[in-house]
Amino acid sequence: NLSERLDRSFKILKGEGKITEINVAETLKDVRKALLDADVNYKVAKTFTDTVKEKALGQNVLTAVKPSQLMVKIVHDELTELMGGETVDVNLKGAPAVILMSGLQGSGKTTFSGKLAKMLKTKRNKKPLLVACDVYRPAAIEQLHVLGQQIEVPVYSEIDSKSPVQIAQNAIKEAKAKGYDLVIVDTAGRLAIDEQMMNEIAAIKNAINPDEILFVVDSMTGQDAVNTAKEFNDRLDFNGVVLTKLDGDTRGGAALSIRSVVNKPIKFVGTGEKMEAIDQFHPSRMADRILGMGDIVSLVERAQEQYDEEEAKRLQKKISKNQFDFNDFLSQIAQIKKMGNLKDLASMIPGVGKAIKDIDIDDNAFKSIEAIIYSMTPKERSNPEIINGSRRTRIAKGSGTNIQEVNRLMKQFDQTRKMMKMVTSSKMGKMMPKMRK
Ligand code: GDP
Ligand code: MG
Repeated sequence: NLSERLDRSFKILKGEGKITEINVAETLKDVRKALLDADVNYKVAKTFTDTVKEKALGQNVLTAVKPSQLMVKIVHDELTELMGGETVDVNLKGAPAVILMSGLQGSGKTTFSGKLAKMLKTKRNKKPLLVACDVYRPAAIEQLHVLGQQIEVPVYSEIDSKSPVQIAQNAIKEAKAKGYDLVIVDTAGRLAIDEQMMNEIAAIKNAINPDEILFVVDSMTGQDAVNTAKEFNDRLDFNGVVLTKLDGDTRGGAALSIRSVVNKPIKFVGTGEKMEAIDQFHPSRMADRILGMGDIVSLVERAQEQYDEEEAKRLQKKISKNQFDFNDFLSQIAQIKKMGNLKDLASMIPGVGKAIKDIDIDDNAFKSIEAIIYSMTPKERSNPEIINGSRRTRIAKGSGTNIQEVNRLMKQFDQTRKMMKMVTSSKMGKMMPKMRK
């Protein structure tokens, strides 16, 4: 699937110290291929990778994050942008607010009408009326009645009428008379675009002038979804898209292409057959889903916010000269603490979260270490080798710890120094030794 593919392409960057033209080009070739395979429109994929490339090459690589992580973040943000950036709400301003459903047969209009009625009733305190305008299939009217009963929302239908326009108009009259503040009009679809269907839905639109027209599309239909969306939009100029059947292993391609091809926001997604399986569409979360890479995005964001690049450079220099001392040790701890709760931070790294679940690392782990270092004289901090037995006893007393703890820290520090010397060329994130209570 797309996320695995992207994961693999990002691995190309792993171990690289810099984002360079060459490794970006290689990664993006793979990203583009993965997008195409996930049914993203060719032009969309091309524009997408061009933009990412531009952004990636202009990025200053922070020492705190790996280039591959930075790339993921750039790709994530670009994906979010491609899907509209912001969450767009449904328009409920009319009195009653009238929502018209459109889309092919089997796309999920009737199911979604029920889901939306239920959601707006329970979450937004609306009083909805469902309207059955599929006059061709008696079973379709029955289907809506069954759903209505299930979610306890009344359904308006007419047995004899063959005019969807009439039914819709009558339903709105009824809603006004009986005090419903929301009317959801379910319509008939065809298996493929045809003129009669388009004329009919256009006639309903003209007659009732809805506050919102939603185009419902099966996300499993890939490129067809995009073409259908385009045809419906040309004719109806709809307000928003509903992506159904996003449960299971649906490829995310439709979500990406539809938005950029028809330039209308995706407002909702359907994720199952049950009436509760509805969500508002959040571009950023969809990008998470497509990338499937844990919450690495916020990890990078926090690191970018908090990490002092200059400090990192300064430290790197000291380490390479083997001058890393307790002052640096302290400032490293401060840096890490600034990034937030340690466990939180570690749990954002994909794969790591689970592994550290039971391990005791919390901010308190640093408390006694800090106390010990603060009890050292400035001279001791910058020249750790002078800290002999009697000094250790004094430091232990001063810090309210004991000689064992001081010895342990000295040993840790020693190891850290050695380890750091070995990995000076490597990244800052790895420099902190493992510290446990
Ligand atoms: P309509 O012809 O556009 O009214 O489509 P329906 O609402 O009758 O849905 C067609 C089929 O798709 C039904 O079997 C629904 O249960 C199913 N369906 C609708 N939405 C979803 C969804 O989000 N996920 C899944 N798995 N099935 C759905
Ligand atoms: Mg239907």
